[in-house]
Amino acid sequence: MSERYIPEHVDPYRFAEQSLQLHGLVKITDMPRLGMSLQSTDGNVTVDLRFGKDEQGLTYLKGKIEAKLALQCQRCMEPYIYEIIPDFALGIVTTLDEANALPSHYEPVLTKEGALALRELIEDELILNLPIIPKHAECKIQLPMAEEDKRENPFQMLEALKERKK
Ligand SMILES: [Zn+2]
Repeated sequence: MSERYIPEHVDPYRFAEQSLQLHGLVKITDMPRLGMSLQSTDGNVTVDLRFGKDEQGLTYLKGKIEAKLALQCQRCMEPYIYEIIPDFALGIVTTLDEANALPSHYEPVLTKEGALALRELIEDELILNLPIIPKHAECKIQLPMAEEDKRENPFQMLEALKERKK
């Protein structure tokens, strides 16, 4: 196997100066917050990352993740594989002022002592891209539309309220 695990932290400014590209893997077990939403934490996700500086001199990280995640269908309660390939464009900043000044096509990501927590950032992107209600695209259990609304939305809002009060 020629593919490697990507480093947990990198110096994004040095990588951007050199326009580095990084292709590699992240173990799902190394992303415990994501793991909490999964039925299985076996396997890896594949990432393609490009560091660089744009015309405005902003340091960016653009990339794409390929992931197959084991979720539980909330209709039939069986596990299924959710395939996603989210891509992202992040603006690398060290202060909140810099973050606020970023153009809107970048999502800001803060460095800590000059280092960027790469794995954590990939975990965040995956969590953001999880479905709110996981379910098979074509589930064997079909519900009429109206009933589905009743089942899912108000219930979820209630749960969210309960969470907030804790
Ligand atoms: Zn299902």
